[in-house]
Amino acid sequence: MNRHGYQRCPKVSGAVCASTLARNGVSVTIFDSARGPGGRMSQRREIIEDGKELLFDHGAPYFTATNADVLGLVRDWEARGLVAEWKENFGSFDFASQKFVNIEKEGLSKKYVGVPGMNSICSALCKEPGVESKFGEGVGRLEWLEDEDSWLLTGLDGQYLGHFKGVVASDKNIVSPRFTNVTGRSTPLDLSLAPELAMRMKEIPVTSCFALMLAFEEPLSLIPAKGVSFNNSEVLRWAFCNSSKPERSTFSEHWVLHSTDEYAKSVIAQMGLQKPSNAALTKVANELFQEFQNTGLNISKPFFMKAHRWGSAFPASSIAREEKCLWDGKKRLAICGDFCVSPNVEGAILSGMAAASKHIPQNNLVKTNSSPSWFG
Ligand SMILES: Cc1cc2nc3c(=O)[nH]c(=O)nc-3n(C[C@H](O)[C@H](O)[C@H](O)COP(=O)(O)OP(=O)(O)OC[C@H]3O[C@@H](n4cnc5c(N)ncnc54)[C@H](O)[C@@H]3O)c2cc1C
Repeated sequence: MNRHGYQRCPKVSGAVCASTLARNGVSVTIFDSARGPGGRMSQRREIIEDGKELLFDHGAPYFTATNADVLGLVRDWEARGLVAEWKENFGSFDFASQKFVNIEKEGLSKKYVGVPGMNSICSALCKEPGVESKFGEGVGRLEWLEDEDSWLLTGLDGQYLGHFKGVVASDKNIVSPRFTNVTGRSTPLDLSLAPELAMRMKEIPVTSCFALMLAFEEPLSLIPAKGVSFNNSEVLRWAFCNSSKPERSTFSEHWVLHSTDEYAKSVIAQMGLQKPSNAALTKVANELFQEFQNTGLNISKPFFMKAHRWGSAFPASSIAREEKCLWDGKKRLAICGDFCVSPNVEGAILSGMAAASKHIPQNNLVKTNSSPSWFG
């Protein structure tokens, strides 16, 4: 029997959980269907015609932290060179008056970014001693083996992934009909295995968002802030100057725009939940860019432009606010993610820490060969 634990997907809740477990002597295997770490804190890499590489934080642009435990972790990451403060002006642009309002130097709370990309935190945590990471290996099935007091994990193509003593799942869709709608497969976790947890997770509402990645030869000099929220637009919610973050490339200016959830909802209502076609994404890209130009801020033609759909960008409810994660002690199954606490990076970190604490034996801070595994 494989003696280590399993986690699906090194998104931030999972990566924090895996690293916390490993530091407490519990070895962990992470399974991730994605090609790289980060989840909604990913960094998108694009190679353009001349061979140049463009990098965009196309999910969370930054995060904030107020909880003392999270701040402690963030300070550690800062000391390790994984995060830095993003000290730039933020402001709002009002489409009705066509004016900027509330330009704020650095804002009230510190904004943190991963360096050199938002995914750097997950990437580093997944490589810590005691954590084994397997990218491109999604989990298709979780089976509880009562006689063996362990979990059997099977991949999306039916391949054997291993036996594990415990599981941490950090994907809200493991029991949701949404998983079946998107993939055409049955959900990885059978509702009857953990009925109480499954009921709480079954229908977590989500809001969607389209991100538009743009690269310009010249700086957009009429924009007085590097983070802009938009008022009175049905299409655009935010714009961020990605290249103004610490340790980013300086050869061109990169922006990432976020749509409103109303816009994303109306587009998805037409195109469905399946993976969008290139033509559909091009149409979205043109519409978002057109609205950006409607600011009248002399937005030049970008040399690169591509849209990305975040079908489940933000959970619209929190299912374990007090406990911060779901836990079935008998089967050693924990569920974590931002949907447990709050729809942001800090909520995901708190949930990952809580899930780890469930798997760490109370009076045993250095236990080896125990086995949580994890599902992202
Ligand atoms: C556009 C956008 C803007 C945001 N802005 C902010 C912000 O300003 N500040 C902030 O704090 N937060 C922001 N967030 C939210 C933040 O990114 C999330 O709250 C946080 O990253 C959630 O982390 P998580 O660990 O819960 O899960 P996630 O990062 O969602 O990880 C999900 C991963 O699970 C994987 N997965 C799904 N199914 C399977 C399977 N069967 N097998 C294996 N893997 C699977 C997917 O590949 C995906 O990578 C933003 C998010 C988006 C999308």
